[in-house]
Amino acid sequence: MKIKNPATDTIIAELKEDNISEVNTTLEILRKGQKKWALLQVKERLNCIIKFGDLIQQNKEELAAIMTSETGKPLQQSLNEITGAQNRVDHLKANAEKWLADEILVDAGATHEKIVYEPLGVIANISAWNFPYNVGYNVFLYALVAGNSVLYKPSEYASLTGKQFEKYLYQAGIPQDVFICAIGDGSLGQQLLESDFDGYFFTGSHATGQKIAKTVAPKLVPLQLELGGKDPLFVTDDVPDVQLAAANAAEGAFYNNGQSCCAVERIYVSEIIYDAFVEAFVKEVNSYVQGDPTNLNTFLGPLTREPQIAILEHQISDALEKGAVLKAGGQAIDVAGYYFQPTVLVDCNHDMKVMHEESFGPIIGIQKVKTDEEAIALMQDTKYGLTAAIFTSNEERAMSVLQQMNTGTVYWNCCDRVSPNVPWSGRKNSGLGTTLSSQGIRAFVQPKSYHMRA
Ligand code: NAD
Repeated sequence: MKIKNPATDTIIAELKEDNISEVNTTLEILRKGQKKWALLQVKERLNCIIKFGDLIQQNKEELAAIMTSETGKPLQQSLNEITGAQNRVDHLKANAEKWLADEILVDAGATHEKIVYEPLGVIANISAWNFPYNVGYNVFLYALVAGNSVLYKPSEYASLTGKQFEKYLYQAGIPQDVFICAIGDGSLGQQLLESDFDGYFFTGSHATGQKIAKTVAPKLVPLQLELGGKDPLFVTDDVPDVQLAAANAAEGAFYNNGQSCCAVERIYVSEIIYDAFVEAFVKEVNSYVQGDPTNLNTFLGPLTREPQIAILEHQISDALEKGAVLKAGGQAIDVAGYYFQPTVLVDCNHDMKVMHEESFGPIIGIQKVKTDEEAIALMQDTKYGLTAAIFTSNEERAMSVLQQMNTGTVYWNCCDRVSPNVPWSGRKNSGLGTTLSSQGIRAFVQPKSYHMRA
């Protein structure tokens, strides 16, 4: 597999791809390894994960440079992601033993009852490239602590990073027959679906997730899908500082070039502050430093995937034909890498694709609204259900809007964030199942009920 640097459109590495016969051999190796791994105490497995977290933090400069070289993520954002992902390790350190302990429910009388949480077995983790540390950790760290072995298939756009996970997990004491990183693109992913894993954990697009669900359904094994979003933000007329609201909204939309599953993808603004908001928003976007992602001052690097450029161009021309006004950007930049100007479309409406289809790039549509009811209806006019956000100084108003959102996560005066303390889950086309929190570890175990008479 040839690995390209999206900032320069040049090949920077070549990796050997795994093939189907290797997948089946690998599955057998992992099956044997899992049996021994599951016999360890949670504490012993956790110690390896804690060591892994330490090693990653000790080597984060080198690891950030690797991630930036294959994804184009600005170096500062690569460092932020690696530093931030440690919160998953800390969260497991604080909670895993408690969450995985047997639950004694009845220990008096004739029949005693308890729940034991057993690992699923060997799981396949097919992952995405946009936040390889965050979305990778959400699955493989929790799966390993729970006693599973893992076949990890990184995205073809984050394979060098995937190999680093393998290297440091081994250094941290995870046996080589308990975690294996398999290199390949979607066709290898497809082959994994044809093998007999005990669970499939996928992060990626809705289209691929739906294909995976159809293929895996007859196996009747656990399937989790963390998919895309079209996440709305409503900015009300009572925000105390319109410029600050605009700056925060812009960061939610453009961080990592908009290539975040929970990026703000559409903004509804109260008509009372609409003009002031748009002016401040465009000023903020025009202040972003775009260019070489290895420069620590860069906020916008190249897109990771070249084909996304055509999708963005199509959404922009569709919006302009239907009456949107272009306030910033609008096109790809004519240089070697996959650079796209940060683009702001205003006076949008729901006939436009930019308000319905995931953009996954540095473009945003802004629409004026008259009332909270109108905003709620527009926010809910979507096939997706990942997150929804509101900026308002009125808590009651915020809660009244947020409780009407059919999404896994809602934000009041914040957006585009994930925390290990609370579940991460999508509804509708945004996915199935939960990672993070106590519920995220329960995804990797199966309860066994004991009814016991001495
Ligand atoms: P993608 O669907 O193109 O690829 C994801 C993974 O699936 C890759 O490893 C790929 O090789 C593999 N794959 C492709 N075709 C396959 C097939 N037929 N069978 C099995 N595997 C196959 O997605 P992507 O471009 O890597 O990621 C971007 C998408 O992921 C966006 O939609 C984004 O919103 C979503 N995402 C969601 C979350 C979340 O937590 N909800 C997090 C990150 C990204």
